Amino acid sequence: MIIEIIPCLSDNYSYLIKEKETNTISIVDPGEFKACDKVINKYKKLDFILNTHHHADHVGANLELKKKYNSKVLGPDLDKDRIPGIDIFLKEKERQKIGNLEFEVIFVPGHTRGHIAFFFKKEKVAFTGDVLFSLGCGRVFEGTYEEMFNSLSKIKNLPLDTRIYCGHEYTKSNLNFCLVYDAKNNYLNEKKIDIQKKLNTNQPTIPSTLDEEIKTNIFLRCDVPEIKHTLGLQDSSEIEVFSKLRDLKDSF
Ligand code: ZN
Ligand code: FE
Repeated sequence: MIIEIIPCLSDNYSYLIKEKETNTISIVDPGEFKACDKVINKYKKLDFILNTHHHADHVGANLELKKKYNSKVLGPDLDKDRIPGIDIFLKEKERQKIGNLEFEVIFVPGHTRGHIAFFFKKEKVAFTGDVLFSLGCGRVFEGTYEEMFNSLSKIKNLPLDTRIYCGHEYTKSNLNFCLVYDAKNNYLNEKKIDIQKKLNTNQPTIPSTLDEEIKTNIFLRCDVPEIKHTLGLQDSSEIEVFSKLRDLKDSF
């Protein structure tokens, strides 16, 4: 599995996946035709388009790409009316193959009601869209805080060495938020140096690993006593801590 990162629009990432044995080419969340097509053009084909959710910055190039390359579009069953050109409707825990690569659908509602993530178990790769970002998580638009919390918990339970490919380059502003409310976390200082180095040389901060995220991403750390204390929520549940953090981040 070869993954090419394609920056789209102002801060989106699309991902091209090449499976070598059968020369199968797929793309995850093509937000912008021009940027994606420039990369796809090298391969002269596009077999599959995979969508995590219906937002325009993730499906914006579906129809143009499908038309040009006759690709099959795979997306969340629950949002089949909102995914342009959808051919294959994906449900929770379903397995699908793109060439010789198999992924499992993880149903992760909250940001949108039908949001899914793609988990390639053998390769230990997850495409998390706008649910889990590096050092952050997506806004809760169509679901409840509890749904979003449960969705993040599902991702948190994947193998620790899973590489996380998310939908946006929000890492720097997410870091600034974590530094305020998780100030005593030493891992954040290491992460800060690493992020700065990458951004200074125009490199994506993506992918991270789940292990790194659990150590540094405050939204996966709602059970940490120091964070609860900082928020004055010592006796609160993890969902209450999560909700408070999400509200604070919305206006950060
Ligand atoms: Zn979105
Ligand atoms: Fe997005």
